[in-house]
Amino acid sequence: MPGIEKLLLGILRYRVNTRWKLLEQFQRVKDNPEPTSVFFTCIDSRVLATKFMDSQVGDNFVVRSAGNLIPHACNFSYESATTEAGALELGCIVNGVKHVIVCGHSDCKAMNLLYSMRKEVDTKEGGPLQLWLKRHGAASLEKFKLLTPENEYKGPVPYQTARRFEAFIDPENRFNLADKLSQVNCLQQLQNVASYPFLQDLISREEVKLHAMWFDIYTGEVFMFSRTKQKFILINQQNINHLLHDAYRKIEKIPIAEQKRK
Ligand SMILES: [Zn+2]
Repeated sequence: MPGIEKLLLGILRYRVNTRWKLLEQFQRVKDNPEPTSVFFTCIDSRVLATKFMDSQVGDNFVVRSAGNLIPHACNFSYESATTEAGALELGCIVNGVKHVIVCGHSDCKAMNLLYSMRKEVDTKEGGPLQLWLKRHGAASLEKFKLLTPENEYKGPVPYQTARRFEAFIDPENRFNLADKLSQVNCLQQLQNVASYPFLQDLISREEVKLHAMWFDIYTGEVFMFSRTKQKFILINQQNINHLLHDAYRKIEKIPIAEQKRK
């Protein structure tokens, strides 16, 4: 296990090779910030989102949590204020960010643990990680039950953001059940983002758009959920036009009063 010297020596290399290149970008962003997204992903050390997105200074607000969970608005109060909701307000309200992305990944240790606890999720016992997953991952486990041998563990699984949509989970059956739960969970977080009243008008008017991505640790590939194809598809040259069209297409609006938590 490398010690702290690995980290400190990395900072020395950064000072020589990178810092001076960033100074101009820091100034430009300070005077003219144009962030693209609020990007939620897992704390996993292998998920180098800024690398696979080739991010530059000022591109994204990045929020990381175990299992890329975003607490539902009904779990938010003064006593249980969380940074996830605060980040949505800072990004989308204060800074006018138009895209919220939730990115899960394969071999997620948090999702693997949630999967192993699927039969005891109602017990309010365990360490901090277990309680975090039970409290905010239970809805994902409920949706996961819709993957059955009868439908070859594909679903469909229903979700509700500004409109209802259905997802077929890993229809090519390339991933194990815990990874399928990770995909179910990733989409569930879009529903949780949409649960915050301060965002609902913006989402309904499509001034804020919600997207799900999934990073495959085994291959290094990144997938994006397509609402028209109802599944995650690979982000590559062949699919990019479809994904862009899918991301920007107008959706059928549902009055906010009809939007209920599922
Ligand atoms: Zn993870």
